[in-house]
Amino acid sequence: MPVKTTSPAPPAFESWGRYPKHRADIVPLYWTSDFPLHAPSSSAMLPVGMGRSYGDSCLLDGGTLLDARGLDRFIAFDSATGLLRAEAGVTLAEILDFAVPRGWFLPVTPGTKFVTVGGAIANDIHGKNHHVAGTFGCHVPRFELVRSNGQKYECTATQNQSLYEATIGGLGLTGLITWAEVQLRPIVSRKIKYEGIKFVGIDEFVALSRAAQHLEYTVAWIDCVSTGKNFARGIFMQGDHSEQPEDLKPSGKPKLTLPVDLPAFLMNKASIGAFNALYYAKQYSKRKNALVDFEPFFYPLDSVHHWNRAYGKQGLLQFQCVLPWEPDFQQGIIQVLKAITASGLASFLAVIKVFGDVRSPGMMSFPAPGITLALDFPVRGERSFDLTEKLGNITAEFGGKMYPAKDARMAPRHFQQFYPQWQEFARYIDPAFSSAFWQRVTALG
Ligand SMILES: Cc1cc2nc3c(=O)[nH]c(=O)nc-3n(C[C@H](O)[C@H](O)[C@H](O)COP(=O)(O)OP(=O)(O)OC[C@H]3O[C@@H](n4cnc5c(N)ncnc54)[C@H](O)[C@@H]3O)c2cc1C
Repeated sequence: MPVKTTSPAPPAFESWGRYPKHRADIVPLYWTSDFPLHAPSSSAMLPVGMGRSYGDSCLLDGGTLLDARGLDRFIAFDSATGLLRAEAGVTLAEILDFAVPRGWFLPVTPGTKFVTVGGAIANDIHGKNHHVAGTFGCHVPRFELVRSNGQKYECTATQNQSLYEATIGGLGLTGLITWAEVQLRPIVSRKIKYEGIKFVGIDEFVALSRAAQHLEYTVAWIDCVSTGKNFARGIFMQGDHSEQPEDLKPSGKPKLTLPVDLPAFLMNKASIGAFNALYYAKQYSKRKNALVDFEPFFYPLDSVHHWNRAYGKQGLLQFQCVLPWEPDFQQGIIQVLKAITASGLASFLAVIKVFGDVRSPGMMSFPAPGITLALDFPVRGERSFDLTEKLGNITAEFGGKMYPAKDARMAPRHFQQFYPQWQEFARYIDPAFSSAFWQRVTALG
């Protein structure tokens, strides 16, 4: 039997940006048979994982959150092929702990390993290897979806195909994913052959990306504060798995936790400008080569638990767009960067990457060929909301789209322009499911 939280003021489930704040009942699921609920909810429901989405795609105002983290069992593993079957609440961190010592690695990983398999499918997440591997959904050949009426569907590219395509990138709205298969990739070492290359300007960034197309991982940090001759400077990071066999030890545990919310004023233009200058200068030479462990390469932020508290109690907003090459990605990116600089709401965690053209099976998937830019800034009331509105307008003008997993402010008109297939997708939504994001972006106006 599921245990329902009965306290009058249940603890809020927060998304990583801690904005907006909504309250919903939380029902923990421990067994796949816990859903459909034995005491059905009279209001809307939404499955959730680790709450590592930044905005409101993992929130509901009122209603019931189905906390799927208790579905945390490994079901089967074929050590000859690397095909893993696991419950949907298993995290990528747990998969790495299990798989790396056996010589296997995630096919696609985001910038944090603290996300669940269910969350990774529902947002069809991408990583530094999007240009060669596509999205997470490209490596999920099969999963089980349970609808609120108790119907169970085993979904593959050919079996219950429409539900398969609607659920990959389906924002948790098509039903509860109970388990999934993930095709892992072989490794012989924990190490990544890393090269960092300093660049200045979008042209140089694109040239470096094109030259590195044959490498598995590419991404760049970009300075969103500097102007003049330093405008759009950054460090391009590329890497491949090392082919030198070594002892495949499991990862250690992160040691640091940010214990309290920092005062919001610490995140200002001057402090972020100073951070960016130091970050750029820490690599002295134009090029730097190193053999590095995969943990700091993929998950530099995971070493400090709750780093989101650095933005203070008001939280942070993320913005991630992808702009297609045509009509003019370069003008688009320049306009986005200039709007950020002009707002004074700087960001030190700005990342830019070229997406490839590997097609995802997901109907609502975010990635598309072109350039993606992701950054965050503190919530400062109307100032921040004006900026997100401007960034949405630029994205729309240049034919791009924004990423729901990183969004708390997208205007309904923008969402409906970015995802013209949204009404077709809506046919597959479980009638008992909804989210704060979906209610917001499909509202009239
Ligand atoms: C530091 C950091 C770095 C990140 N880097 C990247 C990146 O590089 N690339 C990228 O793509 N994303 C990135 N993200 C975003 C993150 O990968 C996604 O938001 C991911 O979906 C979060 O998974 P979660 O388990 O926390 O799910 P939640 O955030 O709790 O939920 C996400 C969605 O999954 C649905 N869901 C969860 N479980 C289930 C289930 N069992 N059945 C059906 N639906 C379910 C929810 O309804 C919701 O719509 C990053 C986030 C952080 C905090």
